[in-house]
Amino acid sequence: MMSNHDEQFEATHTEGSKMGIDLVGKTVKNKQIIFKGYIDGSPMENDMELKLGDGLKLEVPKGSNAIVVKNLYLSCDPYMRGRMLDFRGSYIPPFTPGSAIEGFGVSKVVDSDDPNFKRGDLVSGITNWEEYSLIHKTDQLRKIEQDDGIPLSYHVGLLGMPGFTAYVGFYEVCDPKKGDYVYVSAASGAVGQLVGQLAKLHGCYVVGSAGTSKKVELLKDKLGFDEAFNYKEELDLDAALMRYFPEGIDIYFDNVGGAMLDAALANMRIHGRVAVCGMVSQTNRTDTQTFLNMFSVISKRVTIKGFLQSDFVHLYARFLEDITGWYKQRKIVYIEDMNNGLESAPAAFVGLFSGKNVGKQVICVASE
Ligand code: NAP
Repeated sequence: MMSNHDEQFEATHTEGSKMGIDLVGKTVKNKQIIFKGYIDGSPMENDMELKLGDGLKLEVPKGSNAIVVKNLYLSCDPYMRGRMLDFRGSYIPPFTPGSAIEGFGVSKVVDSDDPNFKRGDLVSGITNWEEYSLIHKTDQLRKIEQDDGIPLSYHVGLLGMPGFTAYVGFYEVCDPKKGDYVYVSAASGAVGQLVGQLAKLHGCYVVGSAGTSKKVELLKDKLGFDEAFNYKEELDLDAALMRYFPEGIDIYFDNVGGAMLDAALANMRIHGRVAVCGMVSQTNRTDTQTFLNMFSVISKRVTIKGFLQSDFVHLYARFLEDITGWYKQRKIVYIEDMNNGLESAPAAFVGLFSGKNVGKQVICVASE
């Protein structure tokens, strides 16, 4: 049963949800998604738990240089699975068991002691899976210059980390040329859907693969891919790629790794390029992948290059300008899969690894 004390918190919270930045100085009970502990294998919903946190005062102490934000949209990204391992040798540290999950989001500033942000500003960057966050690392946030033509949630997708990954991966890593034969795996996802569209804008022939017939239809009908196929219906991936690329592949933008990467290697053209962006098919596996087609790298003089989007931050301004312009000129579109409510986040995250998401997976925590 709710105590008077709880009722007070609830009242404040409901009021706050409506009023946004008028909450300064109030104390709220903060709904959070807590990371329970390190895991092996596929992530499950009960690796995370919804918790009502202790009272959080929505005010930043003077001299802290911190900000308090109300989270509006949160991003579910495959790389977050890597942070559920107790492994410190990666490019990003593991999550802390017992703490709220950290991830990309779009948030509104409630109070600020950082001169770069003021109350009411909209920001995107690293926040936590909770309703309100106290953020000390404000250098991981970017102020959003709001543009009515662009949905706010796109700042974790098209104009956020996944969109940036597609942009730098395609232009900086793939060395694309007009007329190239381009293959994209996980093609309907947050990164893949933009890679395919950029390749089309560049004058390439583009084929994508995805895991359902609905996604395949979207690739061809909405995202402008020349061809698309459901890789789960193919018994022989090598033969499938040979069917779609009778003359071979110039560029393979690899989002999945594993058997698909091996099949693509067998189908590369001379001087082909493989941009290794992600290995979502391998994330939850503990066995080792064997490659049968590595000799092709020599015989076809293939370049295989792994990359991290974070190495290209100097290109962020150019990316924003290009992608915003192309979106407004209707040269590109973007598909989102929006779940409502913080409590929907664990299932949405887990769903990334069985292909439940159709497009960029976003959680709407609160409206502006
Ligand atoms: P996403 O494609 O929106 O979602 C993940 C998709 O992966 C699922 O919808 C599913 O689509 C596919 N998938 C899941 N398990 C699979 C499996 N076992 N085999 C094949 N496909 C599987 O995710 P995203 O955010 O765009 O990320 C795509 C890739 O880019 C990921 O590997 C991610 O780690 C990587 N990434 C890399 C960087 C970087 O800097 N290098 C930055 C961002 C993302 P289907 O229905 O098609 O199976």
